Amino acid sequence: MFVRLRHKLTVLYAGLFCAALILIGGTAYVVIADATQRLARDQLVKASEIFERSVRLRTEHLAASADSAANIVSLQQAAAGRDESAIRTQLEALRDNANADLTFLVTREGLVIAEDANAPTSVPPGLQRALAQTEAPSGILVFDGRQYHAATARIPGGLGWLVVGGRLDGDVQALEELATIPLDASTPLHTSEGWAQGEDAAALGALIERQVRAQSLRAEAIETSSGRTLALATPLPALDGSPSVLLLRYQLDGGLTQYSALFGTLLTVGLVGLSLLIAGSWLLANDITRPLSTLESAAQKLQEGVFETVAIVGRDELARLAASFNAMTGALRERERKITHLAYHDAETRLPNRLALERRLASAPQPERVYLAAIGVDRFTEVRGAIGYTLAGALMRVLGQRLLQLVPNAPVARLSSDVLGVGLLADSEADARKRASALIGALEQPLALEGHNLDINVTIGLAQPRAKTESPGAMIERASVALDQARSARQKLGLFDEAAYGDPARNLSLMSEMRRAVESGELMIVHQPKYDFRTGRIGSAECLVRWRHPTRGMIAPDLFIPMAEETGHIRALTEWVLRRAIVDQKRLAAAGWPLTLAVNVSGRLIGDDEFARAALELVAKAPHQLCFEITETAVIDNPQKALENIELFASKGVRISIDDYGSGLSSLAYLKQLPAHELKIDKLFVQSITNSQRDALLVRSTIELAHGLGLDVVAEGVETPGTFALLASMKCDLTQGYLIARPATIEELIAILGDEKRMRFYQQTALGGVAPAAARLA
Ligand code: C2E
Ligand code: CA
Ligand code: CA
Repeated sequence: MFVRLRHKLTVLYAGLFCAALILIGGTAYVVIADATQRLARDQLVKASEIFERSVRLRTEHLAASADSAANIVSLQQAAAGRDESAIRTQLEALRDNANADLTFLVTREGLVIAEDANAPTSVPPGLQRALAQTEAPSGILVFDGRQYHAATARIPGGLGWLVVGGRLDGDVQALEELATIPLDASTPLHTSEGWAQGEDAAALGALIERQVRAQSLRAEAIETSSGRTLALATPLPALDGSPSVLLLRYQLDGGLTQYSALFGTLLTVGLVGLSLLIAGSWLLANDITRPLSTLESAAQKLQEGVFETVAIVGRDELARLAASFNAMTGALRERERKITHLAYHDAETRLPNRLALERRLASAPQPERVYLAAIGVDRFTEVRGAIGYTLAGALMRVLGQRLLQLVPNAPVARLSSDVLGVGLLADSEADARKRASALIGALEQPLALEGHNLDINVTIGLAQPRAKTESPGAMIERASVALDQARSARQKLGLFDEAAYGDPARNLSLMSEMRRAVESGELMIVHQPKYDFRTGRIGSAECLVRWRHPTRGMIAPDLFIPMAEETGHIRALTEWVLRRAIVDQKRLAAAGWPLTLAVNVSGRLIGDDEFARAALELVAKAPHQLCFEITETAVIDNPQKALENIELFASKGVRISIDDYGSGLSSLAYLKQLPAHELKIDKLFVQSITNSQRDALLVRSTIELAHGLGLDVVAEGVETPGTFALLASMKCDLTQGYLIARPATIEELIAILGDEKRMRFYQQTALGGVAPAAARLA
């Protein structure tokens, strides 16, 4: 019914107050009305008694006066002599003496001699009778149309009677004036028409009849035309026999009019009180409901996730409720803060997590300038194995903190156990590379963890700024892929290469097509020659696999070799390459080129005994020596088994080459244990020896150390004559790269081998004759 508590309270209080007021007013009215009526009854009875007594006393006084006048001799003489003027003189004296209104003499013959000559001369018949029967009758007398209380005295000697009276209407008026209540007095006469005339004749007549008969002094309430009236009728003693009564009336309804002022005041006070009460309870309700409304709206906001405290006023229950509410809001806010913190932070390092980074990237102010770097700690699994999980976590935390110092305010996060992400602001790809390189230098500073000194290496994959349609999550994925791409290209830093990555969904289908590819001849091999500085000729070549996909064209091995490793097809693939290599080796031999052919053997495979058996069977069929190029990381991954198999291969005459040396966690000491013949320095280092003193030094010392271990050194990825000449001067044994030849088909290879001009060019370049040789070749 009520939507607002304030209205409810106000109406409730006002209603209660009105009820109380009506109760008080009603009770007062009833009590007053009852008291008034009782008072009026008493007053009527008293007035009636007073009237009766005073009339009696005055009549007695009149009787005494009349009696003494009757004994006056001069009156007797005047009566006897019928001397009317003398009689009149005597009557006048009597009137003055008795203080009467009416005096007259009744002669023996029944004539009236009055003071006033115009008065009636005949005696009223009732009086005549009374005078005859009684000695000195007194009572109410009607004379000349007026009522008198009258007394009589007999004049001695039978001379007649003296009658003396006072006007009754004067008595009635005096009574009205004397009475303490406003009563209406009258002395109705009983006539032939009854006691009364007019509107209320019947009611009044009946009342008078009743009361005269009952002879009791009890006022009665009757209904009259002017309302409820209290009436009392008392019979008056009649002198002339005509009955009359004293009728006292008191208007009951009007009786309360004297209290109307009281009721008026009561009403006014009540109304004022009511308005005060309404205003008061409105304010009070406001006092109660305002904090409640504030609480209500705060609770509503809380529902919407907005934490708002409410002001605490006073010390009452509402204040305590508000305080409890604030405490609850505070606790909720704290809990939400904790939950949010948990949701956006990595528990181990307390660094922001991937989700947090996504949020920061989504709200970055200049997304077109934000490059995302995924910074991977190299060989993290090994590092963790060495220092334990706890310290490995601490390591990531320290790196994260370094990152935050290096790029303050940048979004930093831990993307996976060994990868951190950071957003970099840059204006171009070159700029982004520069910044990322600077990070590599700073992050690779040695660090101390609980007394251990750690040297770590990192690789960075960079994702270009994201298009509006790309999600931050996809951008992080791009950076992670860029990191993988950089690692497999043996680079410290690489930008995301869309073309090389391809479409992950299509890559998935590639995997399922792998088996068919091996069986149906979609694979082919190409050969990349290795130039021997010592002989000035090409004495060996590396077999590299290619996949000619029927719909997707050439697919780079960097894409499908890792897949083949993952899906278990690598063994079939490698055995196939080995068979092809033997076929080609025979073909080359037939053409007069008995080359050593090298086959790449995945690290996953080298520890596989079944493969080892199959490979050895094939190797036995080869016309010349074969070489297995093994990536050194793979060897370390599964040391025991791999070592056994490598020893087995070596014992059967297979040349063992350590591939990609320098790109991983190198350990020359470990190489000593391997029965290897050859060390291939990764192209990443080789390519930079002409412009990086550090890399040149590294390659030179590697060559010296390898020679010290009895290993031939192959430098791969040689593209320029300058590099080629420098390697020659460093006493590198063999070299491989686009400068010598790109991977070629068997026919192309045979052509290259027979190209004497080409061989002379190599020899001259090795001696430093760069410019003329290059010009001639071009
Ligand atoms: P890898 O064993 O290090 O092979 C050398 C890669 O460097 C080849 O790429 C070759 O084309 C490339 N290359 C040679 N000279 C130059 C140069 O001067 N400059 C540059 N920039 N690159 C040069 P490719 O053929 O794409 O092979 C990539 C990788 O795929 C190989 O790296 C090898 O790990 C793997 N792979 C290729 N064929 C086989 C295979 O039959 N079996 C296995 N297990 N892996 C293979
Ligand atoms: Ca290789
Ligand atoms: Ca290599």
